[in-house]
Order: sequence, then C-alpha cells, then structure tokens
Amino acid sequence: MSGEEVCSHVKVVVRVRPLNTKETDGNFKKVVHVVDNHMLIFDPKEEEVTFFRGQRVGNRDVRKRANKDLKFVFDHVFGEDSSQVDVFESTTKGVVDGVLNGYNCTVFAYGATGAGKTHTMLGSSDDPGVMYLTMKELYNRMDLIKEEKVFDMAFSYLEVYNEQIRDLLANSGPLAVREDGAKGVVVQGLTLHQVLKVALTFLIHYTHSLPFIRVLASPLPSSSLSEQIYLRQQDKTASLNPNVRVAKMSLIDLAGSERASATNAKGARLREGANINRSLLALGNVINTLADPKSKKTHIPYRDSKLTRLLKDSLGGNCRTVMIANVSPSSYSYEDTHNTLKYANRAKEI
Ligand code: ADP
Ligand code: MG
Repeated sequence: MSGEEVCSHVKVVVRVRPLNTKETDGNFKKVVHVVDNHMLIFDPKEEEVTFFRGQRVGNRDVRKRANKDLKFVFDHVFGEDSSQVDVFESTTKGVVDGVLNGYNCTVFAYGATGAGKTHTMLGSSDDPGVMYLTMKELYNRMDLIKEEKVFDMAFSYLEVYNEQIRDLLANSGPLAVREDGAKGVVVQGLTLHQVLKVALTFLIHYTHSLPFIRVLASPLPSSSLSEQIYLRQQDKTASLNPNVRVAKMSLIDLAGSERASATNAKGARLREGANINRSLLALGNVINTLADPKSKKTHIPYRDSKLTRLLKDSLGGNCRTVMIANVSPSSYSYEDTHNTLKYANRAKEI
C-alpha cells in the first residue's frame, strides 16, 4: 500500500450533541435532523420536521426565511444519544490499526466552542472520551501480540495558542517546529513521557488536579490541545532485519471554530481570534488542497500556520486521519453549525 492510497481517504464524521438547558428553555428550535448513520439534514423544511415532537417553531413566521434544507452525507453521523464508545468504535478504533501498522494517525475534533469537542476527545472520568479509549485499545492490542513484539511507547501533550506551541507537561516557553528527514515533524524541546507513568495517570484521573498540566490548572479555551502517542515496535526474534515500525498518533481538541468577528473582539482578543482563524483556515486550506482532485499536490500550504506545520507528517503522505465535527442541534448555534458542516463536507473529499 502506498502512502498516497493510505491518505486517499480522511474519515469525516459528525457528532450532534444533546440540547443543553439554555437551548431547551429558550425560544430555539432544532435545526439538525439526523436521518440515519450517514445522513443529516440541516435546517429541514417544515414538512420533514414531524420529529420535532412539540418543539416550538420559534419566530420562523416572522422571519419568513426559506429553510435551507441541506442534506449532508458523512462517513458516519452520530445523533444526540450516541455514546463515547459508539463514537470511538466507529472512528478512532480503526485508526489504532494504522498506528500498529506504522502509519501516523490523526484524530481531531472540530467545531464551535460548546459544540462538544472536549467531551468527545477528553470526556470526564465517568464518561471518558476518545483519548482514554484509544489508549486502552492500544494497550489491549499490544498485549495480544506481546509474545512477538517489543513495544516502546512515549507520550507528549502540547497546546497551540496564538500561533505558539507550548509543552503542557513541562514549564516551557514557545517551542519551535522543525522537520527532520528521518523523524518527520519534531517540536524542539517537547518533553516525552513514559506512558505508564504519565499518560495513564493523566487519562484516568484527568479530573483530579495535576500540577504539571498547566492547561488544566488555567484553561485557555481558545487553544488547540494535542496529545501525541509515539509507538515504536520491533520483532522479538533476533534477526539481522528486526522489522522496526515507528508511528505517531495525534489526538487533537481544536480551538473553537467560531469567527473572531462574531465575538466583537478588539485588541489582543481580536489578534487571538485572527490567529485561531489562521490555524483553522490553514488546516482547511491544507485539507482542501489534499482533497481537490484537480490539485497537483505540488504545493500543500502546510507552512501557513503552526498547527498545519505540526500536522504535516500526519495529514499528507504516510497517515490516516479522522475528523470528528461537533455540532449543537439548536438554532441558537445556526451559523456555527452551518459553517462546521460546510467545513466537514469539504474535508471528506480527501
Ligand atoms: P467544546 O469543547 O466544543 O467547547 P464541550 O465538550 O466542553 O464543548 O461541551 C460543552 C458542554 O456540553 C459540556 O458541558 C459537555 O459536557 C456537554 N456535552 C457536549 N457533548 C455532549 C454529549 N455528546 N453528551 C452529553 N453532554 C455533552
Ligand atoms: Mg473544549
């Protein structure tokens, strides 16, 4: 299998979270109708909304705006009652195979603030998300082949904020990204930790305070968080050709995708918003260039942001990618949901 083929498909799924109390109590209606495991309708026509079961129609008649009634098809659509395990089983679990086969893999959660990204990726200790379930799956899988293989696993955790990369498991200033011919993308000075010592403690007990994880002590809601798992495996049988495989898995909780303009931002906040947009726009551009069948792929604009430079060896070439687009079903987030669905729809062409 060539790298091209591996990368010829990014799995794109959408997860619709349940309504929250603000949305249920307010004068809002549902604008996302999950049809089945693969299809949803955004802003469906009235006739099709019998499923709204007594939901208020809101001020539709006053606005007299035609419903968009847009059908979207994705690799999977998870409705409001989907569980963390459902999402994991149909998305990231398959990617774990890729890691064990030596492919770099990326799972990222995209969506506006409040749409459910952190719930999906991190979850809570009662209901852990993709990060924990992935780690557990990796351990189970390694255990099954421990007679044949020696594994070496390490872990890092970083934040991209305002176009700067910081180590969340060490006190560090901004870190530089460079490309290493042999190792791929390297964040200079990023600390690697033994998975058993740090990651499991972190993943199982992440709601407890851990002084070395700065972001949990002082959350920066507009940063992108990336957990990386590095896996090296080698045949146990002594031979001249020990068949070493090295792969990296990145699990990313992206910054909120809402537009800076929507927040009436000024000064530092506006700059921050612009930088978030820059990373997410750059990610969108990279994805679109990879997705465009007409593009010759000679210039993929990885260099346009820190996030895309970081993901260079995990989006193009030797890689597997899953994008989980998170949306609220409520008209309260109408524009955000529409934008997220359009973004996800473009990504699925890869
Ligand atoms: P984001 O990280 O995208 O800003 P969160 O993951 O923090 O959003 O979700 C916002 C709120 O909605 C949180 O209180 C979270 O627990 C809740 N929530 C999100 N997704 C779900 C879901 N699928 N099921 C139940 N609650 C959810
Ligand atoms: Mg979050």
